[in-house]
Amino acid sequence: MGISMDEMTTKLYDVEAIRADFPILSREVHGKPLVYLDSAASAQKPRQVMDALMLAYTDTYSNVHRGLHFLSEASTDAYEAVRGSVASLIGAASGDEIVFTSGATMALNLISRCWAEPLLQPNDEILISIAEHHANIVPWQMVAEKTGATVRAFDMGPDGAFVMANLTDMITPKTRIIAIPHVSNVLGTVFPVAEISKVAKQAGALMVVDGCQGVVHMPVDVTALGCDFYVFSAHKLYGPNGVGVLWGRADILAEMPPYMGGGDMIDRVTIEHSTYAEPPVRFEAGTPPIAEVIALGAAVDYVTNIGMEAIRAHEQDILSYAHQRLSSVEGLQLIGTAPGKSGVVSFTMDCAHPHDISTIIDNNGVAIRAGHHCAQPLMDRLDLPSTARASVGVYTTRAEFDMLVESLEKVRRIFG
Ligand code: PLP
Repeated sequence: MGISMDEMTTKLYDVEAIRADFPILSREVHGKPLVYLDSAASAQKPRQVMDALMLAYTDTYSNVHRGLHFLSEASTDAYEAVRGSVASLIGAASGDEIVFTSGATMALNLISRCWAEPLLQPNDEILISIAEHHANIVPWQMVAEKTGATVRAFDMGPDGAFVMANLTDMITPKTRIIAIPHVSNVLGTVFPVAEISKVAKQAGALMVVDGCQGVVHMPVDVTALGCDFYVFSAHKLYGPNGVGVLWGRADILAEMPPYMGGGDMIDRVTIEHSTYAEPPVRFEAGTPPIAEVIALGAAVDYVTNIGMEAIRAHEQDILSYAHQRLSSVEGLQLIGTAPGKSGVVSFTMDCAHPHDISTIIDNNGVAIRAGHHCAQPLMDRLDLPSTARASVGVYTTRAEFDMLVESLEKVRRIFG
């Protein structure tokens, strides 16, 4: 009997072996096995990443770029090598296009300040979706206030799907920037980035992608996607806190002024004047998070070894199971059911507030997120104060969603 590629990938995916790499997953919470369904907020870390972090301190630690001694060179080599790993992960042309930031939030602020601010004129328009995380809204509002530009948002479809006409209807000759998420952190909607990039090009707008919830769930090829910037945070990709990635096209990065001034980002400094280093170092003033960048390299190796296609197949299986199981809970409404969605399941229950849901099920060891998910404009649009959200990762199992459903039945018994 024939077996499809998808079935094969799912069969070969050894989730128990993957779970064994994550020490925290074997702990108990309130006397129950931990069911961690909050990876969209921050993912747990495999031993490989924590070992790399430890090794960076115990074996090669020294400041980078500055010393001529053995350790500084070893540290610099390890740090710089991660640019190449990240470039391979996301299909960038070169490691020189990879800028390390403190996270996606800093990366988006950097783009808005260093690229958008010098370019924008009064009445220019920045087009975003209604489903943005605040990190892809507030920096644009700040630059709009400074330049006289306007931030406009296009709507999502009724099931949370992306609707191209909603976007194209909002494009005007003044549209300079289109900034979208790769995947919505509330709805799970996957935005068709390649198609949107084509539209942006035709409109003469540059295209910024908030890849926080994209790169963790699927293969990414920024060259094929045709965008100009793609950003993400290491901590959602099983890496450490305090590091993020800004990928930008080399020709655009070359034109951008620095974000912060200080050590490392310069070419030559006199009391009167400074000239700046080439990208990416131009955007990395001061001592960077050295060990964390090296550990990000281990996180990239980790997901690459599993295979992003295998991760996608596994998570899609879990997500469709999750939808099917959650749909059976009386009074539960799924928020965001776009075809092909990824990563998260948001929901409300008619009997309980999301905060109460989260608190009650925590007693069963089940960790989900409740709140506005840093997406208040979307909550306003949906006329909801908040939602509950369960999210999936490389280590998520069907059994964990069985436990979620069992716990939600308890919520219904208490509040229903
Ligand atoms: N964008 C999206 C879609 C997110 O989900 C998040 C984090 O939740 C961010 C941006 C901000 O990421 P960070 O806080 O790591 O900078």
